[in-house]
Amino acid sequence: MSSRRIAIFDTTLRDGEQSPGIALQPDEKVEIANQLELLGVDVIEAGFAVSSPGDFEGVRAVARTARSATVATLCRTRREDIEAGAEALADAQRSRIHIFLATSPVHMEKKLQLEPAEVVEHADWAVRYAGERVDEVEFSCEDATRSDPDFVAEVCRTAIRAGATIVNLPDTVGFALPMEYAGFLNEVRRLCPELAGVTLSAHCHDDLGLAVANSLAAIDAGVRQIECTVNGIGERAGNASLEEIVMAIRVRGNALGAETGIDPSQIGAASRLVERLTGYDVPRNKAIVGANAFAHEAGIHQDGLLKDLSTYQIMDPEELGVSMTLPLGKHSGRHAFARACAEAGVELERDELTAAFRRFKELADTGRPVALRELFVAKVAT
Ligand SMILES: [Zn+2]
Repeated sequence: MSSRRIAIFDTTLRDGEQSPGIALQPDEKVEIANQLELLGVDVIEAGFAVSSPGDFEGVRAVARTARSATVATLCRTRREDIEAGAEALADAQRSRIHIFLATSPVHMEKKLQLEPAEVVEHADWAVRYAGERVDEVEFSCEDATRSDPDFVAEVCRTAIRAGATIVNLPDTVGFALPMEYAGFLNEVRRLCPELAGVTLSAHCHDDLGLAVANSLAAIDAGVRQIECTVNGIGERAGNASLEEIVMAIRVRGNALGAETGIDPSQIGAASRLVERLTGYDVPRNKAIVGANAFAHEAGIHQDGLLKDLSTYQIMDPEELGVSMTLPLGKHSGRHAFARACAEAGVELERDELTAAFRRFKELADTGRPVALRELFVAKVAT
């Protein structure tokens, strides 16, 4: 099957930063942007320039340093947003204004207090105004998945005619199910054939834990850009996680018929940097980058892994810049225990090993971590 190249649009510095309590300084945004370039992301959404003077500086600093990635900033359909965005992006190698406007009935009526016809007019005006000021314009139908597909198609057609070359149909509130999202995207593509001539994008949130699944369903439905964040940080339950999407495509690329330009060896470093600068700890059991993602405690698993890594691992952690661990605990087996003893320089006769393993299991049953030196105070060099 031929492989489609999926563009990775990283929004760690915009949607990710919207997580409560995160406020990245411009130099911190630059540090993360540099790491995102090492990863090889195609687009860095650096912030929401008009939202604060600090964010304006952050977007400008990233625009000045990014060498290969396109730098984007978010804008409402307002003159001041677009002017601030264009000014912040002035020094970028390649600049993108990302305009968003809600298309769902609840957002149009309650939040925007606009009639549908006014939404179409605003979209048209804003895309044209932005297009005169930056290299390219992306348009997002906010809350697309709770919108009428016929109306979304009309807004998409308007945005494309006004010059948008990337159109995003986000699941803003994390409401969609994977098959439903794919069906929605296909329906809008059918109603708006002009979408075939632009880059269609997906942007998913994790309110039901489906952000990555929905993003993969979107790839299956033909999108060519995925919006995501490192460690999955973002509004509420977060965004689709970059590392999970990239590795799903890497491990299951044949099934998906897709590939990305991401260098997996930079994933571990990116995760640790974002964790440190945002203060958002990665859960231990988080896929790909959690401390336990490649930790194996169960005896049967440890035994299998010591014989062949492919028994219980579908990815090579070394390739991701993280390491596999075989922690010793109540579920560990004699094989891994003997290996840990040997690695610690403890040489045991067969009977000694049997006795030590029995003692180890008794201690491990208490549920706390067991250090080898507790078992062999005299034998382990400290
Ligand atoms: Zn979002």
